[in-house]
Amino acid sequence: MTANLLGFDLDGLAAFCERLGEKRFRAVQLLRWMHQRGESRFEQMSDLARSLREKLPGLCEVRALPVLAQQESADGTIKWLFDVGDGNAVETVFIPEEGRGTLCISSQAGCAVGCRFCSTGAQGFSRNLSTAEIVAQLWFAEHFLRRHLGHQARGLSERVISNVVLMGMGEPLQNYAALLPALRLMLDDHGYGLSRRRVTVSTSGVVPMIERLAADCPVALAVSLHAPTDALRDELVPLNRKYPIAELLDACLAYLPRAPRDFITFEYCLLDGVNDQDLHAEQLIALLRGHRGAGVPSKVNLIPFNPFPASGLRCSSRARVQAFAQRLNAAGIVTTVRKTRGDDIDAACGQLAGEVLDRTGAAQRLERLGRQTSPVPGDQAQPIVWQPRSEKNITPPRPLRSLPPEGAVAVASGGGRAPLP
Ligand code: SAH
Ligand code: SF4
Repeated sequence: MTANLLGFDLDGLAAFCERLGEKRFRAVQLLRWMHQRGESRFEQMSDLARSLREKLPGLCEVRALPVLAQQESADGTIKWLFDVGDGNAVETVFIPEEGRGTLCISSQAGCAVGCRFCSTGAQGFSRNLSTAEIVAQLWFAEHFLRRHLGHQARGLSERVISNVVLMGMGEPLQNYAALLPALRLMLDDHGYGLSRRRVTVSTSGVVPMIERLAADCPVALAVSLHAPTDALRDELVPLNRKYPIAELLDACLAYLPRAPRDFITFEYCLLDGVNDQDLHAEQLIALLRGHRGAGVPSKVNLIPFNPFPASGLRCSSRARVQAFAQRLNAAGIVTTVRKTRGDDIDAACGQLAGEVLDRTGAAQRLERLGRQTSPVPGDQAQPIVWQPRSEKNITPPRPLRSLPPEGAVAVASGGGRAPLP
């Protein structure tokens, strides 16, 4: 298969160009055409030397991911399911808000961490995404949405996606080699030109890679904590057995001097009767304010649990969520409750792709785990089904409402050259 240029950051593309006997500025030109203008056809890249335009098609291409499904929520949230081959699919979610557009992207097909409350984890791990597959999600979404929202006509600088969060499927820091060039491209002025504080890597706590990220590309960091004690976190986030909370918080403290913000965001998914009691809030306060004496400058983002049958877990009540948030805020820890967006299309971590595939029997393992060690009754646990749970809003790719019907949707035919998004 020919090289996919979506998989290169500037240095990588410059090295590619050099191997073709081309100068570094050609890489800049190519990057700008691809990522700033959404162009995938070399013959349209008018400022490239004609000889290069003719040479490139035999050697490389701009290859998009085929879109398996696209869903649009009543609140404007859009979710895409991309085919990454061999029966694997990953999801990407666009969340429009006042003054910003956030894209949530995936880093792996499945996930090896296997968190107790996560349907991606319940699928097991299939494989790492390549840099090109990570970037292709952003490339497609940005240029598709520009067309959809009619921004193209108003100038190239008007970006639709202002923030990227690595909060889709997978553990980004367990796919570090592919992640790093993707992050660099997001920050590159010739690429997406996002500031470091507008790119967030969310991690379940891969401690050595937090240290690497600090050295290589310190973007905003979100840490999925979910429990205030090792005993409980061992159950919810199995990676905790390898990197316990104290080590994780040490890594956060070491990250802070390089971080684009002066706090670490801690994500905490509230699970009814499991980690949502007053005692847990008090333990969390003691942990974040007391670690190594001075505590960790923190912001806490409480995430209402998005239930799925195999988990055997339930969402905390609104009152409980509010009470938990109030305790933390009263103790001086800035705490927000994540708004649920795209509820009608299950636009939360792993929800759609989780319905498509369970390759490894992880759901059954999870069910057994639920029976044996669940801190809440696991008797309603069900293996994940292979069929779409709700057919009603899973549609084949279709143009969005305001798009002209023909040629507007960038659905690349498998492995083929991508049409314009
Ligand atoms: N693997 C990384 C990033 C992907 S998960 C991580 O764990 O941080 C992104 C966020 O979604 C994490 O905070 C994760 O804990 C949360 N999450 C996973 N499953 C969820 C569910 N069913 N309901 C609510 N949040 C969930
Ligand atoms: Fe993996 Fe994150 Fe899901 Fe845990 S929450 S299983 S780390 S994707």
